Amino acid sequence: MKIIDGKKISIEVLDEIKASVSHRVENNLKIPHLAAVLVGDDGPSQTYVNSKIKACNRVGFQSSLFKFDKSILENELINEIQKININNNIDGFIVQLPLPNEINQENILNEVSPYKDVDGFHPINYGKMALGIDTFLPATPAGIIELIQRCNIDLKSKKCLVIGRSQIVGRPISILLSQNKIFGNATVTVAHSKSDNLKQLCLESDVIISAIGIPEFIKGDMIKLGSTIIDVGISRVDDNSSEKGYKIVGDADFKSVSEKVDYITPVPGGVGPMTIAMLLKNTLKACSLND
Ligand code: NAD
Repeated sequence: MKIIDGKKISIEVLDEIKASVSHRVENNLKIPHLAAVLVGDDGPSQTYVNSKIKACNRVGFQSSLFKFDKSILENELINEIQKININNNIDGFIVQLPLPNEINQENILNEVSPYKDVDGFHPINYGKMALGIDTFLPATPAGIIELIQRCNIDLKSKKCLVIGRSQIVGRPISILLSQNKIFGNATVTVAHSKSDNLKQLCLESDVIISAIGIPEFIKGDMIKLGSTIIDVGISRVDDNSSEKGYKIVGDADFKSVSEKVDYITPVPGGVGPMTIAMLLKNTLKACSLND
């Protein structure tokens, strides 16, 4: 079994980005600038935004945080987004999700300029992604592709099961892996909460990409020998032996599946660290497109 070390690979990607930034500085080119829009005081969202800002500092990017109270109205937030769209100093920005229930997420994401949409969620970029046209890919699927490529895993003609159909992970990764691209050409099946016979689908698959968020859902007896598991799920479970009182686990029951898989991404330390690295890669791309 080979553990795909997402932490190590993400550091390689961040180091490459850092080298590009140094190269840009030497050539008097603009330093990439990523901004984050954060609404409300949701704990995990603040943690995610802080990690993104920390990663910006690590690679030499500029970063900004636009923080708004949870009482902000949808039209006020749209106004703020339009200001960021025309701020020439900012190359790319993200709107940290989830937004408060009173705000329509779709309306907000549609306002982000497609040229600055480094999350790849704007319908124009999402459509380009689906058509196989070069664009900003959503960061988590992009991170999965980067892991697959850097580990030389060839998906051509492999039976690949994507579990989960969310717009940020399951749907895009299923589209990308079926495309006629160097990282793709897999035979993709998408399973979701209404799918029957999930165990059978898993047993028939060479590669399982799981993005459901149910702790340790995939057990060893659900997979075939020699398969690959890309575990996107992140769940907190109680753990009295840890100081925090909890631990982070993925969708796969690591202990039982590790006896059968050829490759697996651990949780934590697999897909998670790649997501931020790919967001920064998209920001570098957005900045370079303005050169
Ligand atoms: P989501 O929460 O929006 O949706 C979950 C998906 O799982 C749905 O499509 C649903 O149909 C499917 N599902 C639920 N129960 C199922 C079942 N019993 N059988 C089959 N399918 C089932 O999904 P999301 O936002 O993509 O998040 C999924 C998980 O991935 C979460 O744990 C989330 O924290 C994690 N995540 C990790 C990263 C990362 O960077 N590693 C990024 C995004 C999300």
